[in-house]
Order: sequence, then structure tokens, then C-alpha cells
Amino acid sequence: MKLDKYTVTSGEKFKLKEHDPGDTGDYRSKAEAVRAMADNIERMKVLQDKLYAQNEYALLIIIQAMDAAGKDGLIEHVMSGVNPQGCQVVSFKQPTSEDLDHDYLWRIAKNLPERGRIGIFNRSHYEDVLVVRVHNLIEGSQMPDRLLDPSIWKQRFRQIRNFETYLFENGIIPIKLFLNVSKEEQRQRFLARIEDPAKNWKFSAGDVAERGHWNDYMDAFEDAIQHTATKEAPWHVIPADKKWYARLLASEIIVDTLENLHLEYPRLNEAELASLEECRTMLLNEKS
Ligand code: ATP
Ligand code: MG
Repeated sequence: MKLDKYTVTSGEKFKLKEHDPGDTGDYRSKAEAVRAMADNIERMKVLQDKLYAQNEYALLIIIQAMDAAGKDGLIEHVMSGVNPQGCQVVSFKQPTSEDLDHDYLWRIAKNLPERGRIGIFNRSHYEDVLVVRVHNLIEGSQMPDRLLDPSIWKQRFRQIRNFETYLFENGIIPIKLFLNVSKEEQRQRFLARIEDPAKNWKFSAGDVAERGHWNDYMDAFEDAIQHTATKEAPWHVIPADKKWYARLLASEIIVDTLENLHLEYPRLNEAELASLEECRTMLLNEKS
């Protein structure tokens, strides 16, 4: 599968408008995509087992999107085959007062995955250049006034680039997924949440108000991707109007990234092999 057209490793020329939320690549039907996805889930299982056994690298999957773009469903489906012991999902909501008493990367650093694990961030430090920017929440924050320079967002992009490069260089590999849903598809999904009693709980009136800031969010996403897409921590812009395609693509990207790590089960040295042999002999000779 060609992933290049969805991957941004250098953002200068990135234009969100050039990415169609309804794109389904070479796939014409959901059934076809579901079959390919099942295959990826099997491969992911084997790769995760090696990641865990080797206990050196960690994978950090960062998911950002507008409301109802399908973050939760994507996490549920894409990770359905992995061992829960080696996987951890963290949802970043509105910061607590303790969070706000610290720098914005504090809660992020505290929740990074351990080596050998897959960490999934449902929202992330990007909220601090998205919702915080769109609503200018930084004004009422505890940031010292004299540091609230108009270049604050550029500064944060630089901080985020450096932070993610630091993670990569320490074996914590970032995968950043932007689920690119269209405004019309979001409208349909909100309506479905209102009309279907089983989905009512997912709906909040605030989500409709947020939708009123759609263009500001798109500008903020575009700017963030332009400034934080790097070779070490690329952005993947995933068409999200068809959930089955978004999920397939995400699984493909995760498998591809894991394969590029060339993971191997740890090999025992001679002394360890000899000790294994000794244990085997003892077990074989045990009297019942
Ligand atoms: P759901 O699909 O269930 O609605 P969600 O991710 O939207 O999931 P919510 O509890 O509805 O979860 O929303 C979390 C809210 O917290 C979002 O509106 C998000 O923008 C906001 N948020 C996250 N991080 C920050 C932050 N640093 N500053 C301000 N708001 C934040
Ligand atoms: Mg929400």
C-alpha cells in the first residue's frame, strides 16, 4: 500500500486543502479493507510481542482530530489484536489544576510509554497549539504575561519538534495521526448521535459550539502540521470520512513503523544458554 501521499515529513509546503477526507485510495469496498486490516492486526500481534520481549523501543501513537472523527473507534479496532499488557491508552482532557500548575509537557512526559510498550495518546500536547490557540486560553493561564509574545505558537512548535526528536533519539518512536474528517461528515455523525438513543451519551452540546470554530481549527491544524512534521516524527494525514479506510490506513502505518525497527527476540548468551540446559536436565530428571 502506498503510504507516501498520507505522510508529511517536512511541512513547509503542506496544504490541508490538498487532502481529501473522502479518499479511499485503491479500496472500493469496506469488505476489502476489513480483510486487509485483519491481516495487519495479525502482523501487529507478532511485532508487538517482539517489541515487548526486546524491551528497548517504545511506540507512541498520537491521535488528533476534530470531534466525531472516529478516534475512539479507531483505537478499539486497530489495537484489537494486541496484548493489553503491552499497551496503554491515555486520554488528555481539559487540564486539571495540577496540570495547569506546570508546563504543558509535564502531563505528557508523565504518561509516556515504558520501553517495550505501545502508548496511545487520545489527544496530546497538540491541544496546546489547537484548542488553546483557537480560544486563546493562554491569556487566562498561569504563563507570565511578559512571556505571552505573539510568537508563542512558533515557540511551541519548536519546543514540540525538539521534544519529539528527543523521544525518537531515545528509542520512543512517535507516530502522529491526524484523522481528517470533513465538516459535512461531522454534521452527519452528530445527527446520528442525537437520533440514535444508544449514541446519545456521545453527544455534547458543546461539540456543536466547537464546530462553529471549524475554520480556525483547520488553520491551527495546518500551521501545526507545517511546523511539526519532521523525519523523526512525521504527521500522517488520514482521510477519515470512511471509518474503514481510516482504520486500515492507521493499521498499515503502525505495522510499517514497527517493521522498520527490525525488532528481534532477545538472544541468550552462552552462559544463559548453558543455564537453560541445566534447568532442562533438572526438570527431565525430576522424580514425581
Ligand atoms: P469524545 O469522543 O468522547 O467526545 P474527547 O476526546 O472529545 O472524546 P472530551 O472529554 O469530550 O473527550 O473532550 C476533551 C476536551 O478537552 C476536548 O474538547 C479538548 O479540546 C479538551 N482539551 C484537551 N487538552 C486540553 C488543553 N491542554 N487545554 C484545553 N482543553 C483541552
Ligand atoms: Mg468530545
